[in-house]
Amino acid sequence: MPIDKLYLAVLASVGSAAALAQTTTPQPEPISIEAVSSPQELLDLKCWIAETLALLKSKEFKNNLSSLSVDYTRVSFGSRSASVAELSKVVGLEYPYRFYPTPVALVGNQWNSTVLTGHNGERINGILVTSMAVGRQHFARFRSANAVERSCAINTMAHEISHTITDSPTLATGVIEDTGTSATIGAATPIASYLMGSVAQCTYLQKVGRIKEEELRSCIAVFGDSEFNNGRCNQFNADEPLQWPKRAPRP
Ligand SMILES: [Zn+2]
Repeated sequence: MPIDKLYLAVLASVGSAAALAQTTTPQPEPISIEAVSSPQELLDLKCWIAETLALLKSKEFKNNLSSLSVDYTRVSFGSRSASVAELSKVVGLEYPYRFYPTPVALVGNQWNSTVLTGHNGERINGILVTSMAVGRQHFARFRSANAVERSCAINTMAHEISHTITDSPTLATGVIEDTGTSATIGAATPIASYLMGSVAQCTYLQKVGRIKEEELRSCIAVFGDSEFNNGRCNQFNADEPLQWPKRAPRP
């Protein structure tokens, strides 16, 4: 199937209003898929990216993130810290923030996921360097029937997408970074990329009815606001409350 038709089919299959809106109002794709092993991988990876982008654009995500301004006075962006409101501006792509076009590849059967940004305009063969690589262990989670496992893949993709945001018209500046944080800002300060991932994850779990609206904070506490608690993703059956340490389900 031609890529444009395939993309529309994928967006239609995602089923969210935000994603469907993109079929009538085409948006430039911030992430282009460069390396997969099969048509099914291409389809599923497009779904994973489209669903995560739609979540990040949703009013539910925005409301959840804004509500955390009472919990966090500052959020670390890496080289600086800022308010939750500023993070909301960054994720909402308010001027001057925008996505830097980023190719993505599925790599190996592993947990690695990473975004390489050409912070200072580094070039390889004349091309500005920015790329995303995602291991297939994360990808397998996206295909899981367990909503919590699937939500962890959303977390990972939202986290990596955070690194593709730039505030430059020409360069990938890496507005949100994971490193260079705790020494200058304090260990208790959440890290924007991880917070963004967990808010996207927990918003997804609210949308599919796996957790209630008021469970946002306990959900974020399970998966982390300054790191990703990867090992907890496969610890919850469908009937188990999303809390850590785990509680037994009511008899
Ligand atoms: Zn990161």
